[in-house]
Amino acid sequence: MSQEIKRESTEKIFLWLFFPVIISLYLVYKFPTLFVPIEQVSDTFYFFGKSTSFWYATIYTAIVCYFSLMVIIRGINPYSVVNKPISTYQKAKFSSIFLSQLIVFYLIPFIIPTLQEGREFFNDPYHAVNKDAYVYVYNGFTSIGGMIYIFVIVPVLAWLFGKRYCSWFCACGNLSESVGVSKWGQQWVRNYTPRSKIALKLEWLQFFVLIFVLCYGLVLFLDIWQVFISPSLKTAMQNFQIFVIDFMFGAIIGIGAYPLLGTRIWCRYGCPLAQLMKLFGKFSLSQARIKANLKCRGIGECSKVCPMGIDVKSFAHLNKQPIEGIYGLTQTPCISCGSCVAACPTNALEFKTIFS
Ligand code: SF4
Ligand code: SF4
Repeated sequence: MSQEIKRESTEKIFLWLFFPVIISLYLVYKFPTLFVPIEQVSDTFYFFGKSTSFWYATIYTAIVCYFSLMVIIRGINPYSVVNKPISTYQKAKFSSIFLSQLIVFYLIPFIIPTLQEGREFFNDPYHAVNKDAYVYVYNGFTSIGGMIYIFVIVPVLAWLFGKRYCSWFCACGNLSESVGVSKWGQQWVRNYTPRSKIALKLEWLQFFVLIFVLCYGLVLFLDIWQVFISPSLKTAMQNFQIFVIDFMFGAIIGIGAYPLLGTRIWCRYGCPLAQLMKLFGKFSLSQARIKANLKCRGIGECSKVCPMGIDVKSFAHLNKQPIEGIYGLTQTPCISCGSCVAACPTNALEFKTIFS
């Protein structure tokens, strides 16, 4: 019992610190000149000679790694109301979250280059430079690697595994999944995830974000700003992405709104990559689905833990009878997080993939 209280207090400290710290850091990282003149930025904000993006990524990674590691160490199913051991699927998912966050989104961009070059780790002017660690729209349309990633690798993964990318690998998803299993995170998911019919319909907003991003990408790709002979259009669009997409959507709404709208608000309404995966998954008849057997008793735990607001129960129970419903990307924006499968006390749900 005392261990449980200790755990809750640690999580409370983490989460109380998390939002103000992460959002302030993001603000400083993206818009330092809002606070001080440009020539004072490094003196004011670069602690130990490391950039604000370094500290932002360090705190972000610490949070993701802490919560995901705790799930693996405890070995208890984090989604079930009864104490049962964690499944192999969930263990693999949280290991993937831990490793991808640590290695791909932290060690590779922020630590290894410095060590490899034999430079001083702290106070090295060469590495006191802000950088983005993540593949995003701008990189996606301005490098061959980014294009292959977004238009080849991600669609193939969507066909094979659905949107498992979102719950096993994505840097944003890593935070949602790991914070989502903390005591508070679970309450946010259960109590505040929008599940009304209107909330589901509004997911179409994401489609418009995707259209915007594709047009924006085309402008970047074709160097269209040259047509207008306005060298500042590129800057204007970069700033638009940084402020509207990254900051307003990604940081303020996407992370800051966890306690108000659940942990996947950005993933449902904002993320263009999710919409792309959903479209590819639909048209390629993605092989990843979840199937209900006839064990369902209509308890509805599955729907309560779904961070994407999906009415999972409707695929397993109809007219007070269990049904053998099956769903994937054709019917839902499911991210294959497996919370519903893990939460079901009667084991009425299971994954179906091309390999099963
Ligand atoms: S919906 Fe987008 S942001 Fe969310 S996990 Fe998937 S790819 Fe990442
Ligand atoms: S339906 Fe199940 S696997 Fe899909 S997102 Fe919801 S909880 Fe996760």
